[in-house]
Amino acid sequence: MTSTDNVLPLPTGPTRGSPTDTTKDATQSQPERIRGMIRRQIIRAELRPGQIFTEPDLAREYGVSKTPVREALQMLTVEGLVNVLPRKGYMVRSLSFHDVREVMDLRLILEPPLAAAAARNVTADLVTDLRSLVEDQFRDGNTLEDRLAAARDFHVTCSQASRNTRAAAVDRSLTDEVMRFYHLMPTARDHFASAEEQDAHEAIFDAVATGNAEAAQELMHNHLLESNAAMIRTFYNAGPL
Ligand SMILES: [Zn+2]
Repeated sequence: MTSTDNVLPLPTGPTRGSPTDTTKDATQSQPERIRGMIRRQIIRAELRPGQIFTEPDLAREYGVSKTPVREALQMLTVEGLVNVLPRKGYMVRSLSFHDVREVMDLRLILEPPLAAAAARNVTADLVTDLRSLVEDQFRDGNTLEDRLAAARDFHVTCSQASRNTRAAAVDRSLTDEVMRFYHLMPTARDHFASAEEQDAHEAIFDAVATGNAEAAQELMHNHLLESNAAMIRTFYNAGPL
């Protein structure tokens, strides 16, 4: 039994707040909470690719014993975010161009049909949540960090609204990898305030809100193709991570 069983809220109720923040879930065990904190540090690029650390380092940082840290690191190793270095500790995994392509290709397979399902399952709460996420992403004066979080939550909220919990959990993990990419490449984040991005999210919102599954699927497909192209351009301009 792994911790992934309870990290995703069931998509039946309102999805207010950040659907991707699992660090405050009271039902989580201590190793799961520590895993969430380390994971967050990796995704926010506070722990950088190639950085080496040990169990005692993290136990000190979080003020806990080594045992829950070890369990947390085992989960993150399985998840592919850290590698074990025998007799040295752990290393944060690098993020290659190939990794980014894999993630975006998978999102392209998953998210369009999930957006269609979200449109079929649309509720008043979903419309409210998606509307406020679109507003958060494009509100004048919002930081790029706020925009990034709102963009991620928009996609994750659509996926969760499909009511396919397994697919939504996979998509949440993929979206986190994309967030890691954007934290590692700050110049790429301008994309989140662009007119192209706003038009795409507004159009997807309209399709889901009006229960138009076919349009939601096609718009999400086209949007991910555009995002994919933007990420590839950024990668080639910035060089390897
Ligand atoms: Zn998007």
